[in-house]
Amino acid sequence: MVAGLGPGDEALVTPEVTAALAQATDVIGYIPYVARVAPRPGLTLHPTDNRAELDRAQHALDLAATGARVVIVSSGDPGVFAMASALFEALEARPDRNDTEIRILPGITAMLAAAARAGAPLGHDFCAINLSDNLKPFAEVERRLRHAARGGFAMAFYNPRSKSRPHQFGQVLEILRQECEPARLILFARAVSTPEEQLICVPLCEARDSMADMRTVVIVGNEATRRVGRWIYTPRSVAP
Ligand code: SAH
Repeated sequence: MVAGLGPGDEALVTPEVTAALAQATDVIGYIPYVARVAPRPGLTLHPTDNRAELDRAQHALDLAATGARVVIVSSGDPGVFAMASALFEALEARPDRNDTEIRILPGITAMLAAAARAGAPLGHDFCAINLSDNLKPFAEVERRLRHAARGGFAMAFYNPRSKSRPHQFGQVLEILRQECEPARLILFARAVSTPEEQLICVPLCEARDSMADMRTVVIVGNEATRRVGRWIYTPRSVAP
């Protein structure tokens, strides 16, 4: 099984995922995600490094073939820039494992948790973009960003900025400034649903790249996104 642990708060883990973890013999995943699973007798935890996704998925298939009840954990939703696709990639490479029983257990993804905290910035058409260039060239990030902005979509950015690529998010902001008006609202939602949660909403002209880090999901509104009281929201309709 591949399970999403949600954005951080225990209350946002689905009952289905809690039940799967209670039945598991083995839990596999990136170190901080495995750390969210309570140890107990009969459960082996396999924390691994971040970039080892494919090895991790192969390891899960091998363990499952021996009869283990394996749960691969992701934060948020496992299908959003996470382990579910990695598992199917591993399965493609191992046709002999095709009969493995697989279930994907959804979770609350970061952009939805962040949007709910801020109001309803994703209330109209939107897209999600992974800004990391680990698995695609940055030129492709740039191309998709421009198309999304020109298409009038609100946008959610995952993996906006890391220590290994501190400058690219500045380029992302620069592209947005070329494509969008200065008053466009942009939300920096950090560590949503954890004790370190921090939300900042500014117009694009005041956005700085230092407002984002790896624990931040960034939501850019569409042209109509606006403030009401302490909330931000995007209307459901667009004038014809
Ligand atoms: N599968 C995860 C995303 C993994 S990519 C999901 O569905 O949420 C990791 C990125 O997710 C981080 O860089 C950050 O952009 C975002 N993220 C994950 N948890 C978050 C949280 N609690 N608050 C804000 N952003 C978060």
